[in-house]
Amino acid sequence: MSPSMPDTPTPPLALSPPDLRPWRDGGSGVDHVHVRDSGRPGPTVMLQALTHGNELCGAIALDWLLRQQVRPLRGRLVLAFANMAAFERFDPNSPYASRCVDEDLNRVWDDAVLHGPRDSVELRRARALRPFIDAADVLLDLHSMQEAGAPPLAICGMTDKSLPLARALGQPATMLVDTGHAAGLRLIDRGGFADSASPRQALLIECGAHWEAISAELAIDVSLRFLRHLGVVDADWAESHLRCPLPERQRLLRVGEGIAARSQAFRFVMPTHHLMVIPRAGTLLAEDDGHRFFTPHDDCVLVMPSRRAGEAGQTMVRLGRYED
Ligand SMILES: [Zn+2]
Repeated sequence: MSPSMPDTPTPPLALSPPDLRPWRDGGSGVDHVHVRDSGRPGPTVMLQALTHGNELCGAIALDWLLRQQVRPLRGRLVLAFANMAAFERFDPNSPYASRCVDEDLNRVWDDAVLHGPRDSVELRRARALRPFIDAADVLLDLHSMQEAGAPPLAICGMTDKSLPLARALGQPATMLVDTGHAAGLRLIDRGGFADSASPRQALLIECGAHWEAISAELAIDVSLRFLRHLGVVDADWAESHLRCPLPERQRLLRVGEGIAARSQAFRFVMPTHHLMVIPRAGTLLAEDDGHRFFTPHDDCVLVMPSRRAGEAGQTMVRLGRYED
């Protein structure tokens, strides 16, 4: 979630970047975007990987699907490798550096930005991807997280409309509804995906920690469950390739505003981890240049806390509570 962190020690990498050169021409007219039409009625279903260029799990999942020669039984299937420019710079000795080239590709999806005068590597790619995204009825955006061992979660956007899709997948255990990001619109919050009156749905899956083997396994597993649920692939074929057990139950985590750093002095006063629960309201959580932050309610859940502030204004953690 946070920007590249050059002073964060690099963990051992269990995943290697797949060779995506064979997948450059997907027949769509846009590099690394594959469109496969069944010729039969049905939804347009899109899977996107590499919104962040160093999050390899999604690329491994789409590479796997393409090697399986996946074809839709109905409707259209779109497979997109998003930030190829960043991915092509991936260096295992500096894996955080290739998250993006100029800016975060997951903050540019507002029309005012896409159709505005600004230019960047990511904006050019977003403008090329936009027609496919705007034609998608259902979209799955595959990501991973920074914290070692972080349990996966589904980010369902700012409304409850995509919750039924997350429940239908049965995976992962935590489903999150949040308030978006002030820094810019995410893909899953674009247009009809965030409009309660529209049937279009989008999910962002944080498949686990960057470069841990389980993140790629989960990315393939969730992609198969997604395609099976939508009737795009043969159910028995999908079943035979599932690889992660379903959680006993899924829980909805509703997330409010985040805590932003006031200065680079921001620090948590306790060890923190993703989805850590702090039982009591009013517990001192962090200090920042004389300012103190307390938990606002009982059973406060920390969502993806950052270790240190790179700059003032950076969101250090978001706070939520389980609704069930
Ligand atoms: Zn990401």
